[in-house]
Amino acid sequence: MPLYQEQTIKVHNSLTGKKETFIPINEGHIGMYVCGPTVYSNVHLGNCRTFMSFDMIFRYFRHLGYKVRYVRNITDAGHLVDDAEDGEDKIAKKARLEQLEPMEVVQRYTVDFHNILEKFNFLPPSIEPTATGHIIEQIEIIKDILQKGYAYEVNGSVYFDVVKFNETNEYGKLSGRKLEDMIANTRELTAQDDKKSPQDFALWKKAEPEHIMRWPSPWGDGFPGWHLECTAMSTKYLGETFDIHGGGMDLKFPHHECEIAQAEASNGKSPVKYWMHANMLTLNGKKMAKSTGNSILPGEIFSGENDILSKPFSPAMVRFFMMQAHYTSILDISNDALLASEKGFNKLMDSIKSINSLPIGSKSDFDVPTWKHSCYDAMNDDFNTPILIAKLFDAVKHINLIKEGSETITKEDKEILFDTMKSFVFDVLGLEDKQSSNADLEKLSGVVELLIQLRKEARENKDFATSDKIRDQLSELGIQLKDGKEGTTYSL
Ligand code: AMP
Ligand code: ZN
Repeated sequence: MPLYQEQTIKVHNSLTGKKETFIPINEGHIGMYVCGPTVYSNVHLGNCRTFMSFDMIFRYFRHLGYKVRYVRNITDAGHLVDDAEDGEDKIAKKARLEQLEPMEVVQRYTVDFHNILEKFNFLPPSIEPTATGHIIEQIEIIKDILQKGYAYEVNGSVYFDVVKFNETNEYGKLSGRKLEDMIANTRELTAQDDKKSPQDFALWKKAEPEHIMRWPSPWGDGFPGWHLECTAMSTKYLGETFDIHGGGMDLKFPHHECEIAQAEASNGKSPVKYWMHANMLTLNGKKMAKSTGNSILPGEIFSGENDILSKPFSPAMVRFFMMQAHYTSILDISNDALLASEKGFNKLMDSIKSINSLPIGSKSDFDVPTWKHSCYDAMNDDFNTPILIAKLFDAVKHINLIKEGSETITKEDKEILFDTMKSFVFDVLGLEDKQSSNADLEKLSGVVELLIQLRKEARENKDFATSDKIRDQLSELGIQLKDGKEGTTYSL
């Protein structure tokens, strides 16, 4: 019997605002769509957090024995600067600035995205479709929406008629907005605007002569609106109604609201049973975003080459840090938070390593089956990874007591304990079993800290020959020391 038959999962559905019992449309199967990256620059750590939340969810479903079709797209056209309705395509802008083919930009940053996700031990999605690979499907949906009367064509562009749609449907139901309020709060259209109402959004945009990313269509050369690609690709691979649609909180409006409108206008069906939104990663209390520059790249964390952190942190450790927060909570990254998290991470890894050598007793002082149950309960409660981690540390406490001889465990319970720890830590949380590299990094850190201390003492004794030697020889080994107000830090 698959594990999922014994478990009841509750998910927070953004559409209803409630935690609901998760029942897939087809028993044993799950269709999940997650909006992927816009590949116009390196993926930042905030993006990674959202994708990691869904990787964890994908992993848990698979652990329970569900057959999951997980579609995560690559946005390689149509996403305009500032998420605006008018303006330049993000990819086309980068191509213009760097004098590259748009597809060179796409290739470069798709490769970067895959490299980083691999370091973080992500599972590949089942399908990773691109917007430019689905232009025909997008044109077909536009024709359908036009034919049903929910869109209009002006000067080679096609817009979705939000006011008309709202007469029979509810535009704003996902983000909790009312169309009347939206209209009251937006500026009047000017004579140059093609749109009938400011809330209308582009399904197809006419390409001006200088626009390099363009495709032929029944309305002339142009390119698809950003929201349309996700409707086209999710419908194609998961059907008109599927189980889960995810993305970052910031995509709820307008992106996901428009996806609902497009699908309902085209086939009359609500496209998604459970909408799930992951919360933001902040840096110094502000949303991490490529466009504002308040961001840190994963590679800068792994190497330590940044002005925020005192030392490098491994990908598995950063993953553990992210998993310590619930996916619907805001998480702020800081040096202190990472350092604290690293201690816990190393403790957990050491503890798993020591389970096999625990002595066997005739009885268990620790109720292992109940503990195992509580790990599932944590995950079943809307994928509550912080509670799961607290449960894992309950086990760490008992492992230590057994090691000390203050508690005992039976052979059978020891096996359950080992299997459960491994399943949750490696399969579900996706932490990697690269214990040696983590331990090595930890040892290196200790040695460098020691040298930093010796250098400080040499400088205090005015022994500059020694202090310079330490700095220069570390530099030759690729370890850079940085002196700052808070003391000396290093990068690899
Ligand atoms: P983009 O590449 O801008 O299309 O974003 C890719 C994904 O990252 C989307 O699901 C966004 O919601 C998400 N995202 C963007 N910034 C952050 C952040 N600071 N924290 C978490 N997720 C984010
Ligand atoms: Zn999307």
